[in-house]
Amino acid sequence: MGSSLERTDRQVYELICGEEARQAGSIRLIPSENYVSKAVREATGSCLTNKYSEGYPTKRYYEGQQFTDQIEMLACQRAMELFGAEGANVQPHSGSEANLAAYGALAEPGDTIMGLALPHGGHLTHGWKVSYTGKFFKSVQYELDPSTGRLDYDRIEQLAKEHRPKILISGSSAYPRQIDFAQFDRIAKAVGAYHICDMAHIAGLVAGGVHMSPIPYADVVTTTTHKTLRGPRGGMILFKQQHAAAVNKSVFPGLQGGPHMHTISALAVALKEAALPSFQEYARQIVKNAKRLAERLLEYGFHLVSGGTDNHLILIDLRNKGLAGKPLAKALDRAHIECNYNSVPGDTAPPFNPSGLRLGTPATTTRGMKEEQMDQIALWIKTVAENLDNELVIEKVGRQVQDLCRQFPVPEVFV
Ligand SMILES: *Cc1c(COP(=O)(O)O)cnc(C)c1O
Repeated sequence: MGSSLERTDRQVYELICGEEARQAGSIRLIPSENYVSKAVREATGSCLTNKYSEGYPTKRYYEGQQFTDQIEMLACQRAMELFGAEGANVQPHSGSEANLAAYGALAEPGDTIMGLALPHGGHLTHGWKVSYTGKFFKSVQYELDPSTGRLDYDRIEQLAKEHRPKILISGSSAYPRQIDFAQFDRIAKAVGAYHICDMAHIAGLVAGGVHMSPIPYADVVTTTTHKTLRGPRGGMILFKQQHAAAVNKSVFPGLQGGPHMHTISALAVALKEAALPSFQEYARQIVKNAKRLAERLLEYGFHLVSGGTDNHLILIDLRNKGLAGKPLAKALDRAHIECNYNSVPGDTAPPFNPSGLRLGTPATTTRGMKEEQMDQIALWIKTVAENLDNELVIEKVGRQVQDLCRQFPVPEVFV
């Protein structure tokens, strides 16, 4: 941390230092979180935060774009190359904005959109009722098959035929299995819908070649940039050329004002990192780690939604253990293991105290942890789950966790 912050605002400086130490000293199993490189952080904190660049490269509403134009074009070009997309818009301020902009590009308010229900792993912005996406559009929600915990493509097709949505959304925030985007493409075509894929959680797995890419199968692909992709917080939209004008107009001036050029520069850096061979190794290891963690948890008698994982995340259904998600997540946090409580399919418990726990391996993998450490983590989760009221045990696990964290410092450079 620079000392100007310390001199200007000791209070904020100390809070940020506290957070930095907390991140270094805990095991992050929140599947949407990660650690970015120092290079990404430097770009994020650069002078670009001082610049307004409303518009698009060579068509801006402010002068002084000699460098910002090049930065935005570089980010777009890298995104298109990495994912094999025909076009890219790197301006969305985050994943939610990317989604609203994408829907606005392909549908009118009041049209029907169809996405995965929130309690089944969908995102708020896939048309859940408290989100504007569920208020501005007529929203139909599909669910997982309760018996398998998996997407049921026949049922999705039936529902699509019944409701004839303008947009069919694929993608999820808590689905532990591969998603077959070709199926969504087929269903969308059968009902004359556009297919928008939201690959926020798995963008890094797609870039790393360990998850089917939605690019050939979707009209538009939205994503966050800060989850498995390991970039700055932000959003991005990839699209087929025929949708370029509609998407760009929808992001600006439709939804946003000035793009955050500091974020876009950091995204360009992250996309360069994601094109390195080491990123593919990272992506492969994320999946290996998740599978190993799942295997061990199953051995300890935990029920996993869908019975396991083939991506970066695991959803534990705690109902057979007589535990709720929140008290376990809180006890694990006291032991310096961060995860989040989550609804599980068919959950009858309220959303603020649901029956599931969501875990993921991107952040631990970034720190270099492998299968052996997953064995250890699974054992700690079991120990804490069996000792929710025993602070001595939780503290002891916490000390062991911090020892492990010291052995796997947060890396600064990815090569
Ligand atoms: C995280 C997430 C988003 C939203 O991202 P924000 O940057 O928090 O707005 C959108 N869709 C999915 C599937 C996500 O997991």
